[in-house]
Amino acid sequence: MEMLLANPGSTERTRVRRIPELAVRDRSALHAVLDAGLVGHLGVADAGRPYVLPVAYARVEETVLFHGSSASRLFRLCAAGVPVCFTVTELDGLVLARSAFESSMNYRSAMVLGHCGVLHGRTKERALRQISEHLMPGRWEEIRKPSAQELKATAVLELPLDECSLKISADGPSDEPADRELPVWAGRLPLTRQWGDPVPAEDLDPAHARIPAYIDRWRQRTS
Ligand SMILES: Cc1cc2nc3c(=O)[nH]c(=O)nc-3n(C[C@H](O)[C@H](O)[C@H](O)COP(=O)(O)OP(=O)(O)OC[C@H]3O[C@@H](n4cnc5c(N)ncnc54)[C@H](O)[C@@H]3O)c2cc1C
Repeated sequence: MEMLLANPGSTERTRVRRIPELAVRDRSALHAVLDAGLVGHLGVADAGRPYVLPVAYARVEETVLFHGSSASRLFRLCAAGVPVCFTVTELDGLVLARSAFESSMNYRSAMVLGHCGVLHGRTKERALRQISEHLMPGRWEEIRKPSAQELKATAVLELPLDECSLKISADGPSDEPADRELPVWAGRLPLTRQWGDPVPAEDLDPAHARIPAYIDRWRQRTS
């Protein structure tokens, strides 16, 4: 049976109230933001206190996948089924207004609320490959795969994209009419992410010094 998923921002908890015109209710836009990011922040409460930690992730269809140490507090709490809040933020630039009050940022920002499920067996191994392929596309085939012991030490979680929101800010400054007369430059300063030059490991065998083609492909991409 086909699963019917609500659009971002369509529950009471995820409806964007502050500047609602920046809310985006399109699932494909949500997918695009999650696919563009490499790092998200996973928030949980432990003994009534919030903790928000950065994590790598991958979106696969209508879920987000995470991997981490089975011993970490974050992963133990998530595996136990506590409510989580996961966010991904892509900073796209500064909005340089003529006043401090109107100065802001351009961004794409996604939030997912829900509970994680724990993956096991083949699904867990497939998820590890999918996370690797999101972060380092093309590399999984050539690196050593996790051993049984490494798999045991690693928890793999999935969070369904059921209850989500998406907020995108892309415009220039919106100054008060009186401020437009001020002798101050105003506009947008876009920010793009770009990989630097690869730095070989000190113990790299010269026989393996050739930079893989997939690294060149990553370096041609900007976000
Ligand atoms: C890079 C960046 C920098 C920001 N800097 C500031 C800042 O300095 N000061 C400031 O006030 N705000 C800032 N924001 C906006 C901030 O994230 C909130 O949207 C805003 O503060 C309103 O908060 P609220 O609790 O009133 O949101 P509400 O609109 O009441 O939130 C209701 C629901 O809307 C959704 N929602 C709200 N904000 C977001 C979001 N950003 N992304 C995805 N879903 C969202 C959530 O599901 C949330 O539960 C920034 C956002 C980004 C991405």
